[in-house]
Amino acid sequence: MFDKILIANRGEIAMRINRACHEMGIKTVAIHSTADANAMHVRMADESVCVGPAPASGSYLNIPAIVTACEITGAQAVHPGYGFLSENARFAEIIEEHGLTFIGPKPAHIRLMGDKIEAKKAVKRLGIPVVPGSDGGITNDDEAKSVAASVGYPVLVKASAGGGGRGMKVARNEGELSLALSMARTEAKAAFGDDTVYLEKYLELPRHIEIQVLADRFGKVVHLGERDCSLQRRHQKVWEEAGSPALNAEARDKIGQTVTDALTELGYLGVGTVEFLYENGEFYFIEMNTRLQVEHPVTEMITGLDLVREQLRVAHGGAIGFSQADVTFSGHAIECRINAENSKTFRPSPGLIKDFHVPGGLGVRVDSAAYSGYRIPPYYDSLIGKLIVHGKNRTECLMRLRRCLSEFVIDGIETTIPLFQSLVTEANIIDGDYSIHWLENFLKRTSA
Ligand code: ADP
Repeated sequence: MFDKILIANRGEIAMRINRACHEMGIKTVAIHSTADANAMHVRMADESVCVGPAPASGSYLNIPAIVTACEITGAQAVHPGYGFLSENARFAEIIEEHGLTFIGPKPAHIRLMGDKIEAKKAVKRLGIPVVPGSDGGITNDDEAKSVAASVGYPVLVKASAGGGGRGMKVARNEGELSLALSMARTEAKAAFGDDTVYLEKYLELPRHIEIQVLADRFGKVVHLGERDCSLQRRHQKVWEEAGSPALNAEARDKIGQTVTDALTELGYLGVGTVEFLYENGEFYFIEMNTRLQVEHPVTEMITGLDLVREQLRVAHGGAIGFSQADVTFSGHAIECRINAENSKTFRPSPGLIKDFHVPGGLGVRVDSAAYSGYRIPPYYDSLIGKLIVHGKNRTECLMRLRRCLSEFVIDGIETTIPLFQSLVTEANIIDGDYSIHWLENFLKRTSA
């Protein structure tokens, strides 16, 4: 196993990785910006290196400084976490070119899945069902019109380089199509520097269901079941569950098998998530994320597996130590993403946390880098913690979640905890009866 790794991230995920390393006897190196010099992820690590100024472009995205930090500390491998450089294929290559190990998939697979058009073509060839739409990029309005006519309205214009829900526009009829195309292109160009867009059938009432996979260098791929991430705001996940209230064991096994077969053929390595929309009993691929996901803890809670430990093992050349049949799912888990934002307007609320008291007890996990007296810097994303709750079944899980939300104290800033407190009493949530549009409709209804 590695003796020392560098964690190229900050906040809760840097802490999460640090914890797995320490349990495995691996020394850790934190990196930080000048704004994060006193951050908890820095204090928890064995060593730390300042890699640049507060804006992420000069620090957490500063590849030369990160490589230098590996060299001066003797770190043998780099864990990128999620966000920042985690899906940057060039970064993964540079790490390997320096004789270090990138804890993640092969650069070619990161690059393939980062181009959503190419990703869709590749997985279709591998036998994974995709959302009907254009075969490639859309070059002009006439082409868009003919694709839309063949798949049927409404359609969704999506950015090939997309991420974070940006560069997506719905067209309900031909009259709306030109504007949707030009808006999606403009947004994609501004966000990703690439205005390539493609067209998909817009599904009206799907759920977002994703399959977690793990692969080693010996051609073994296992899936760790699904997560239901249908509760979203602006195409961004807010609440995640494992398993999905909409799937039974048979459906899970079937889609799990399809995904593992495809990734075995691809020769995938490490952890990854294949994301689908699920409507009327059918799965439609939307994208694959080639990294650890924010919501990975719900999978850990029901499988008892430590995904970061598994990542480190397979990155180091180890084999997965269990078979698909050994993977069992126990109980139910829910994660709430707690953001430093007003719970009605979602306006960011950085600043000083005066009091921070986390819930505890059986089946409760809080992943956070916050503490009483911590000042949240305004430079980074607003996720300040994840509350993850496990129960013997979904009902117990919901009751426990309700109890935990009433114990959680974060004073001094605004957070999204009140939103979750209202969600846990909603009949549709209690029944598990919601699609990807449910939360937006709920927010509209309750703000009026
Ligand atoms: P991103 O990479 O920007 O997150 P995704 O392709 O993963 O984009 O889609 C994010 C979310 O957008 C999905 O979870 C879903 O809510 C919505 N979405 C994406 N494609 C479609 C579609 N064809 N029909 C309806 N909603 C969609």
